Amino acid sequence: MHSRKKPIVIVGSGFAGINAAFTLKRLNPTIAILVIDSQAKFIFKPLLYEVLSDEMQEWEAATEFEEIFANSGITFLNNNLLSVDLDERSLTFQNNLILHYEYLVISTGSKNNNFSIEGVDKYCHFFNNLNDLKNLKMGLAKSLNKSGIKNLSIIGAGPSGVELACKLFDMYPNVFKISVIERSKEVLNQSKTFNREEAEKAIKDRNIKVLLNTSVEEIHENQILLKDKYNHDIQWDYDLVIWAAGIKPTLPIFEQEVQKINQKIATNVKLQLKSYENVFVIGDISVIKGFETLPSTAQNAMQQGIHVGVNLNLLLNGKELLDYQFMDNGEMISLGIGKASLSGLGLTLSGKFAFELRRLIYASKMPIFQNSFKSAAAWLINKKNIFNNTN
Ligand SMILES: Cc1cc2nc3c(=O)[nH]c(=O)nc-3n(C[C@H](O)[C@H](O)[C@H](O)COP(=O)(O)OP(=O)(O)OC[C@H]3O[C@@H](n4cnc5c(N)ncnc54)[C@H](O)[C@@H]3O)c2cc1C
Repeated sequence: MHSRKKPIVIVGSGFAGINAAFTLKRLNPTIAILVIDSQAKFIFKPLLYEVLSDEMQEWEAATEFEEIFANSGITFLNNNLLSVDLDERSLTFQNNLILHYEYLVISTGSKNNNFSIEGVDKYCHFFNNLNDLKNLKMGLAKSLNKSGIKNLSIIGAGPSGVELACKLFDMYPNVFKISVIERSKEVLNQSKTFNREEAEKAIKDRNIKVLLNTSVEEIHENQILLKDKYNHDIQWDYDLVIWAAGIKPTLPIFEQEVQKINQKIATNVKLQLKSYENVFVIGDISVIKGFETLPSTAQNAMQQGIHVGVNLNLLLNGKELLDYQFMDNGEMISLGIGKASLSGLGLTLSGKFAFELRRLIYASKMPIFQNSFKSAAAWLINKKNIFNNTN
C-alpha cells in the first residue's frame, strides 16, 4: 500500500458517516481519517420521542463527537460544509476554511421539507433534531398554561407523526385534542402491515382523530387551510401544530453539475458519484440509481456507511468494489409511553415487551460501547418506574 498525504475526509457524522469512519479504520488502522460535522453531538434520532417524554435522558440519545472519536485514531473537526469543488477536490467550510481531499464521503443527512407551503416555517414545530425537540417542549409548556382542552394538530401520518401523536397523548392525557392530518389514504403508508395495524389500534385506543386524503394548503396563525379528497376547503383550528410531513436532503453547493433524483444525489450501486469514483455519497442525502425505493432510514444509512468503509478500503488497495445490497432487518415503531410495535425477520411483536426489545436493540447500536452499556443500565433501572406509570 502506498502512503498518502491527504486524509480521507468524511463530512456528516450521522448514522452513515460514523459507520464509514469506524469500518475503514478497523480495516485499515494506519489510514488518516478526518470526520467533520456542523454539530457537536451525534443524535440517535429514533430515540428522540423517548427524550421528549422523559422516558430517556438527553445524554442517552445524544453523544459528543469528541467522546465518540476519543482514542479512535480518527480526527474530528466541528465545521459546516458550504460547497464542494469535485474537479479541484476541495471543500469550502464556514470561516473560509478550505480543505483538499483525495477521497471523500458526503453524508450530511436530511432536514425538514416544507414543500414550499405558506406558513409552515412560521407556525409549525418540527421534530428532526435536539433544537426542534427543545422548541417543541417550550411550545407544549406554553400551551399547557392556557385553560381548557387544546387542539394539537400533527401534519403527516408517517412514523414520525404517528409516534408523536401516541407519545403526546400518553404524556398529556385529557389536555390536548390530537388530530393527525394525512394526504394519503392510510397511516404509515410505507410501513409493514403489522406495524400499520398496531398503529391504527393505538390511534383508536387514544381517540386520536385522523383526517386521511386531506392535504395542507396554507398555515395561518391558529388555523390550517385544508383540502379534502372532494376538493372541499376546510378551515382547521389549532393551538399547536407539528409538521411531520417529510424530509429533504441537506445539500452543500456543488460547483459541478451532479445528477439528482427527487432532490437527492444519485450514486451508482457502489455508492460512488458518477464520473468521480473517489467520492461516495451515502445515507439520507443520496439515492442509488435503479434502487430509488430504498428507505431513508437509520438502518439503511448504517449499512451504507459500513459498505463505504469496505469499498474505500478496496479502492485504496486497487481492488474491485462491491455492489451495495440493503438487508431489511425489519422496522420498529414506538406507540405511546412504554409501548412499541416490531415487524421483521419473521418476528412480529407489540406492546410492552416490544418496547423493551426496541430499547435494547437501539442501546446495542449506540456508537460507543460505554454509552450502550450506560444506556441499557439506565433503562433497566428506570424500567420499573416507566411501567408503573402505564396501565
Ligand atoms: C424523530 C426521528 C425518528 C426516526 N426514527 C427512525 C427509526 O425508528 N428507524 C430508522 O431506521 N430511522 C429513523 N429515523 C430516520 C433516521 O434518523 C435517518 O434516516 C438517519 O439519521 C440518516 O442517517 P444519515 O447519516 O444519512 O444522516 P444523519 O444521521 O442525519 O446525519 C447527518 C449528519 O450530517 C451533519 N451535517 C449536516 N449538514 C452538514 C454540513 N453542511 N456540514 C457538516 N455536517 C453537516 C449533521 O449535523 C448530522 O450529524 C428517524 C428520524 C427522525 C428525525
